[in-house]
Amino acid sequence: MEEISFEARLLHTPYEKPDAYNALAMPVYNSAAFEFETAEAMEAAFLGYSADHTYSRITNPTVQYFETRVRAITGATGVTALNSGMAAISNVMMAIGFAGGNIVTSSHLFGNTYSLFKMTLAAFGVEVRFCDLKNTEEVRKQIDENTFALFLEVITNPQLEVADLKQLASICLEGGIPLVADTTVVPFSVFHANEFGINIEVVSSTKYISGGATSVGGLILDYGTFDWSKSRVLAPMAERFGADAFTVRMRKEIHRNMGAYMTPQVAYMQTLGLETMSLRFERQASTCLELAKRMKTLDKIESVNYTGLKDNPYYKLSTVQFGPLPGAMLTFDLASKDACFAFMNRLKLICRATNLFDNKSLIIHPATTIFGSFTEEQRVSMDVSPKTIRLSVGLEEVEDLFNDIKQALYS
Ligand SMILES: *Cc1c(COP(=O)(O)O)cnc(C)c1O
Repeated sequence: MEEISFEARLLHTPYEKPDAYNALAMPVYNSAAFEFETAEAMEAAFLGYSADHTYSRITNPTVQYFETRVRAITGATGVTALNSGMAAISNVMMAIGFAGGNIVTSSHLFGNTYSLFKMTLAAFGVEVRFCDLKNTEEVRKQIDENTFALFLEVITNPQLEVADLKQLASICLEGGIPLVADTTVVPFSVFHANEFGINIEVVSSTKYISGGATSVGGLILDYGTFDWSKSRVLAPMAERFGADAFTVRMRKEIHRNMGAYMTPQVAYMQTLGLETMSLRFERQASTCLELAKRMKTLDKIESVNYTGLKDNPYYKLSTVQFGPLPGAMLTFDLASKDACFAFMNRLKLICRATNLFDNKSLIIHPATTIFGSFTEEQRVSMDVSPKTIRLSVGLEEVEDLFNDIKQALYS
């Protein structure tokens, strides 16, 4: 068959079994458990000899269909859907981490990920090593025989720093460690993680995929490209399952024991969201670029940060990795924290809310919210400035958004 488009693959992903009523939208199988004809069939399902569903903490037809669609559009060999982006990240770490092991990463991380690594995992004897991922020598030095992952966000939030993925992937290959990347800020339609050597991709599907802020969810994508015989905890499984060792452990042990599987209602909403994701993204990201250009002309804004702007220091790298529209989120600096608050309070259209890539435009002051519980010193080390505002651009007309920003700055 000829290569078909992203949308065609997405929309025409077949069901695992024909639907009894030929439903065009995957029904919500709102059932905790599934019945068996015989004890033998039940045994086979529990031992993994058949693919029948047993219990919805482990698999569910509606969630599985969502996972299958994500596989169809990304080429991942294993996809696991969980009930938040944080569940996706923590389950990955549970699958590959061990006491005495360490994660090499940047201090430019989503606030809860930073806290997971620094606080939660520390109690289990896992060390986090923060370094400047732009400095390859420093990254190499941090990796040792106890490193079990290099973790990064492809465009950090709110600093909007872009790491050179191919370069870091080659360092990971040398070091025998997997490259684990959070790609939440750029959707599958424009960024192909596998082409840049990312072994395990994690995504908060709460954002672009859900669209319209319908639900919280997370995805783990395994591209089957890492040699798990190099992993201290997965080496025994790699003997039997080869490149699938990670996903086998994830599906048969980790996510079952952690109990954070996606629910069928959420999978239904996110399957619908996925159908329109690339259309919404094109509109939101084009508006974001245009808005960034217009905002640069306003004298009360000290700086506008969007890696799709030609004078951005990451413009070239960002364009190579993510194309001309690197996400629908920008940040900008005003004179002070007070100026930020006064500006935000005067907005009439843009919503004061957390979350990203909703259909509505959302604004937040990261230093006092997402990063509010960190010390001033920690915020400085994370480059989270009290002068910075983050804007997630929605589906409104650019004119409406620009007018709202102007009236809030100058009224
Ligand atoms: C939102 C977000 C997360 C966490 O996802 P949840 O679905 O809220 O748990 C992780 N990483 C990034 C980059 C995010 O924007």
